[in-house]
Amino acid sequence: MKTAGLGLLFMFSACNLTQNSTEEKEIISSSKAKIAKATINPSSVKEELDFLTSNDLMGRNTGSEGIEKAAVYIENILRKNNIKPHYTTYRDSFEVKGASGYNIIGMVEGTDPELKKEFLIISAHYDHIGLISPIAKDSIANGANDNAAGSVAVLELAKHFSSTTRNKRSMLFVFLSAEEKGLLGSKHLAKRLKDEKLDLYVNFNIEMIGVPMVGKDHKAYLTGFEESNLAQKFNEYSNEKILGFLPKAKEFDLFRRSDNYSFYQEFKVPSQTISSFDFTNYNYYHHVGDEADKMDVSFMTDLIESIIPGIYTMANTLTKEIKLN
Ligand SMILES: [Zn+2]
Repeated sequence: MKTAGLGLLFMFSACNLTQNSTEEKEIISSSKAKIAKATINPSSVKEELDFLTSNDLMGRNTGSEGIEKAAVYIENILRKNNIKPHYTTYRDSFEVKGASGYNIIGMVEGTDPELKKEFLIISAHYDHIGLISPIAKDSIANGANDNAAGSVAVLELAKHFSSTTRNKRSMLFVFLSAEEKGLLGSKHLAKRLKDEKLDLYVNFNIEMIGVPMVGKDHKAYLTGFEESNLAQKFNEYSNEKILGFLPKAKEFDLFRRSDNYSFYQEFKVPSQTISSFDFTNYNYYHHVGDEADKMDVSFMTDLIESIIPGIYTMANTLTKEIKLN
């Protein structure tokens, strides 16, 4: 009796496994077929970059009038594209040294009744360092690569996923503030979401993607590469080597130096940053020269398009395949 029962059980689970893996394969191959055709419009990438880095925004320092303009701009794009706020408004507010900081959060709800309770957070910080010591009378740190570039990527991804709505899991598109003041916006939000018992699957954070890497066989690198199987799975989903390992990122402990770390600390789930800044390809880090005209819009557009299949598949696999090591 026991043996037979076990045999049946094995047959049953083997059968289930086959079905699952066929369905998973369909999800993955349909993502390659359909999503591979996704196109991001380079002129909207450029337009958003130009707005976020304009002198009018005065370097987007948290609490300033300049960053308020950036916040309103992002909210308007979310609204125009019918992306719902996650809370009652798009804003998640927090105090920072007597000023107010605002994270901006749009949501694209999942389509599966069960899986929609699980969330992906696609994030980038949109604040920068404001005014610094002038060089040739320019004192505005416009923060094009750091991190208008990542913010534009999150905007474009939000627009893309809200118009396709084929994600089984829910997705939050998050624009974080006060990163430059010590990851304060993300610390606030990660704690709030944790307190609200959000079921976070993965945080995919985007930083400094305005210039291509040089001499690499991958388009960007992942911080905390060895912390999880995210890069490996992402490349498998993409059918292409998108994400690689950068020794310098490990040496400088970039895993703990951007907002992904706040989500990692609260949730202990895969939370990592993708970037193409390799310490040799851009000389304007926290510099008044970090301007929009130094961004490679066609590279950015290609990278945003390239990460769509991987994000799509993360939002659709039947199980949580991305795990901490
Ligand atoms: Zn910075």
